[in-house]
Amino acid sequence: MEHHLPQHTFGTAPSWDNTFFEEAHQQAPPVSIRLNPLKETQSFDSLARVPWCTRGRYLESRPVFTLDPLFHAGAYYVQEASSMFVAQAFEQHVKKQQALKVLDLCAAPGGKSTLLASLLEQDDLLISNEVIQTRASILVENMTRWGQMNTWVTNNDPKDFGRVAGFFDAILVDAPCSGSGLWRKDPKAIDEWSTENVQLCKERQQRILADVLPALKKEGILIYATCSYSVEENEQIVDWLIRDMGMESLPMQCDPDWGITETLSPEQKGLGYRFYPWKTRGEGFFLAVFKKQEGIVTDSLYHSVSKQKNNQKAELELHQKMRPYLNTDFEIFTHKELIYAINPVHMPYLEPMRNAFYIKKAGTAMGQILKDLVPEHDLAMSVHLSDAVSRIELSHEEALHYLKKESVKTADGYKGWQVATHQGLALGWGKWMPNRMNNYLPKHYRIRMDIP
Ligand code: SAM
Repeated sequence: MEHHLPQHTFGTAPSWDNTFFEEAHQQAPPVSIRLNPLKETQSFDSLARVPWCTRGRYLESRPVFTLDPLFHAGAYYVQEASSMFVAQAFEQHVKKQQALKVLDLCAAPGGKSTLLASLLEQDDLLISNEVIQTRASILVENMTRWGQMNTWVTNNDPKDFGRVAGFFDAILVDAPCSGSGLWRKDPKAIDEWSTENVQLCKERQQRILADVLPALKKEGILIYATCSYSVEENEQIVDWLIRDMGMESLPMQCDPDWGITETLSPEQKGLGYRFYPWKTRGEGFFLAVFKKQEGIVTDSLYHSVSKQKNNQKAELELHQKMRPYLNTDFEIFTHKELIYAINPVHMPYLEPMRNAFYIKKAGTAMGQILKDLVPEHDLAMSVHLSDAVSRIELSHEEALHYLKKESVKTADGYKGWQVATHQGLALGWGKWMPNRMNNYLPKHYRIRMDIP
């Protein structure tokens, strides 16, 4: 079915050109991925770089990503190139004095959260939040593949973040929007677009921002992004944030070769950055950066709760049992009989965060002790998985059968729990018996399509 672009809909957008806009929509969107710096392979060395993101790469054509074991291993995330500009905003404006606390408020499916995670150091903490439950589960899957211990996932409404006033050094609001910037990738969305919906989106964006801003500390950084071309959802929000919400607009340094359009808001109060597909190699995108001028700064979560040491001896023993699995410092806690490992510097946040939020994932889920450890998928995918853990390398074909949750025949000699790997990167657990293997890949991670 043909989808017709609304005529002159974005005429008020800065530097808009309807002819170029229509021409751009005759062409296929570029395909891009972003590499995981903590799960390196040489497979992508020859690809062209996304100019504004060190780890962004363009592909010549769109492969079936589901049939690439490296995708399942978390070696890369398939991400639209323009939205990788968030990396520039973060690197140019979020300055580190001490361990950072960063919130990605509208995080599912996890494109920008995996990007932010790659910009953080181990002691920094990323809270990736998604309000819609089913989408929060997909976010957990993608953050699990990415493999970092310092990324937690919550499933809360923006207004819940008022419970941690002045806590975050930086907040990303990649707002739900009318989505016109992605029409080339999703032409069906053209038919759902209307000026009324743009207005509703704008109001929702204001509500979301007003709800979450108390959680940003004084002088903290807000990154606001949409994939809409509408001035209402972009530059008008910039003016509102400055006029009514006490935010200061921050400029970005952009190389002229990148083709990004800097825009001035209608009240001439602040700056925004637009990606037009006829000028940049990516889809439609908008981003603006702000500093919070007033407010409080608190690390009070850190001091307010002392950790309960109920049974130190048992905890110590458990820690000893977990020690061989990870090559980094960690503390443990248990929840519903599952053992989790988290960075010791994040431990003081755990109880207060659990009281304030619905946490879907904190740190690395290690597994459950029955006779021995029955390991969790999260542990296999961890970038901190110790070299002492046995691994079994699978060919491309074997890896695909493993990912379909089939039993994989391998040479004799393997026994017990092994992490199945491809090109050295973990795919998940298997338990090898003398004449068969039990595949422990969680069902919802499995490939559902036929392998050609
Ligand atoms: N940041 C994501 C990424 O890069 O993968 C994409 C986020 S998408 C543009 C916007 C997200 O906001 C969606 O996951 C949607 O479920 C969520 N959302 C929808 N309504 C919301 C609301 N009222 N408050 C907060 N988030 C909302």
